[in-house]
Amino acid sequence: SNGQHLLTLINDILDLSTIEAGKIILSTEPVQLQDLLNEVASVTTTIAANENISVRVLSDLALTVNADYTKLKQVLINLINNAIKYNREGGSVSIDWQLLKKNVVRVSIVDTGIGISEANQTKVFGAFNRLGQENSTIEGTGIGLVVTKNLVEMMGGTIGFDSVEGEGSTFWFELPVAENKGAAETIELPSTPAEIDVPAIADISGDKQSHVLYIEDNPANRQLMQRVFDRQKNYILHMVETGELGWEIASARDFDLILMDINLPGIDGKTLTKKLRTTDSYAKRPIVAVTAAAMAHDIKAAEGLFDDYLTKPIAVPQLLDVLKKYLT
Ligand code: ADP
Repeated sequence: SNGQHLLTLINDILDLSTIEAGKIILSTEPVQLQDLLNEVASVTTTIAANENISVRVLSDLALTVNADYTKLKQVLINLINNAIKYNREGGSVSIDWQLLKKNVVRVSIVDTGIGISEANQTKVFGAFNRLGQENSTIEGTGIGLVVTKNLVEMMGGTIGFDSVEGEGSTFWFELPVAENKGAAETIELPSTPAEIDVPAIADISGDKQSHVLYIEDNPANRQLMQRVFDRQKNYILHMVETGELGWEIASARDFDLILMDINLPGIDGKTLTKKLRTTDSYAKRPIVAVTAAAMAHDIKAAEGLFDDYLTKPIAVPQLLDVLKKYLT
């Protein structure tokens, strides 16, 4: 137990020092709240069951926020863990979300726990402050909320809480809504390659190296992919930022493999892949999904459309395996 505590402390301090050194790179993309919250709730339910506390997801509102998938998950786990830890025997935790304004979502984590006294409320987001829990049996480091607040603010959001001592607390955060992608299905693509200036690729055919097209709007992911390919002699990477550009460049030249982000602004990766599958060039060529939508049902929904499915954060060995599998 002491070892576990020390590990948590070290991890928390590492998180905090990375944030303070400004070294965190966010990979912002549209994240579906419902999927993420159901996933997080199912992880935390096990911890809660040990304490005889129920965790419930109240809202079923389909909303998509602009956030870093992994960091948002960390924020939610921190807040839900606290709501469980500082609860009481037989208590409950409810997770809810609503659209506040046209472009802001508020996610609330409500607990029926010990609450925070008025005197302590000003110190909640201070580092190493455990507000009187220092000698309690509830383990903690007093850093979780500082990290959480920083992550939310880095994603362009705000965080706060309301608490009544002895009754419970509501911790909430607000994030910007992602632009509506609903219209993507109806976007018309030109049936013939458009006359756009695509980066020149010297004669792909007859060239021994394989040419891979990565369609990705997120700069951090493109940067990572570029670094991976910089170390590869046999593969050449080409990248475009939107599905529309992807369609144009893929129609103009034959790539050996396409890496396809799914959540793209404008036409999304699935719609574009369906369209590519109707062409002679790409009916059978490998198209691999690279996405943060890593839930089992997402993968199931895309079955048959993609040749493979890589989930973000991208695991480099897995990516190299996929390249090897299709490009030898
Ligand atoms: P810790 O590792 O101590 O849980 P946090 O930074 O997550 O650190 O929280 C700081 C302090 O705020 C906690 O020690 C606890 O006293 C208080 N706190 C956090 N969340 C809650 C909550 N949901 N209910 C009551 N007190 C809370």
